[in-house]
Amino acid sequence: MEVIGTTADPLAFVRRSAKYRVLVPTMGALHQGHATLLRMARDAAGGAGEVWVSIFVNPLQFGPGADYERYPRAQNADEELCRGAGVDILFRPHVAEMYHDDRSIVVEENSLSRTLCGRSRPGHFAGVCTVVTKLFHLLAPNAAVFGEKDFQQLAIIRRLVRDLDFDIEIIAAPTLREPDGLACSSRNIYLTAEEREQATVIRAALSEAAQLAAAGEASTAKLLECTRRRIESAPLARIDYIDLVHCETLQSQTEADANSLLAAAVFFGRTRLIDNLRLA
Ligand code: AMP
Repeated sequence: MEVIGTTADPLAFVRRSAKYRVLVPTMGALHQGHATLLRMARDAAGGAGEVWVSIFVNPLQFGPGADYERYPRAQNADEELCRGAGVDILFRPHVAEMYHDDRSIVVEENSLSRTLCGRSRPGHFAGVCTVVTKLFHLLAPNAAVFGEKDFQQLAIIRRLVRDLDFDIEIIAAPTLREPDGLACSSRNIYLTAEEREQATVIRAALSEAAQLAAAGEASTAKLLECTRRRIESAPLARIDYIDLVHCETLQSQTEADANSLLAAAVFFGRTRLIDNLRLA
């Protein structure tokens, strides 16, 4: 595995290599959820292709007072996980190289970004779209893998690729969970033991509402009420949002149907966790 730490090198690598490249963009502190993406990237790349991973804690996507400074950085462990997963190239640029002090271009999506996390985290998805655009230009992948855990991000990246004509296949990876149902996340390590125990309520609440929907309940109000009540049964949980949206437009729905996605963001202390579930 080659480790590239500067934005100058990837272009040289890209020019040298005519191989099919599959990129997995991450912010590091890699866990088993990321490992799922790496496996899917390996499958998509095949024996002859290459798996590229980027690790970049992108300051643009953190709001003021968010956890940019304390976001976990685990350089050695990340490298080891990548090596073990058969990654070919690890791209780990410095912030100062990625962003000029006087940069003045931002890539902004203006529809899907307005709901769910976009409402609670203004500017977040513009930060994501800007960095992903840069990574796509720098690394010129043929395909890129994103996780369904960040469902809104995945939808926005698909829109980015469509609207800006990137010739890149977007591959969606299912959410990997801990045995008790909590979605794997780099932020789970922030949780105290008590918060960690109670955080399982998010998935449990989404599943309960999904069961209700499967039993015939279509009223969004009732499904959201069921989700809310279950989450609020955990004393340490503070709901940021819960919503039922169309899985492609991400607009709120008044009635659940086969395209519905139930999504939640919940604080435990200062840690904000997100999760979602498609209603079958
Ligand atoms: P992050 O490092 O948190 O920015 O995540 C990098 C990629 O991994 C994103 O595409 C995420 O959606 C994906 N990801 C993070 N956690 C999980 C998980 N538990 N299951 C599947 N994909 C995940």
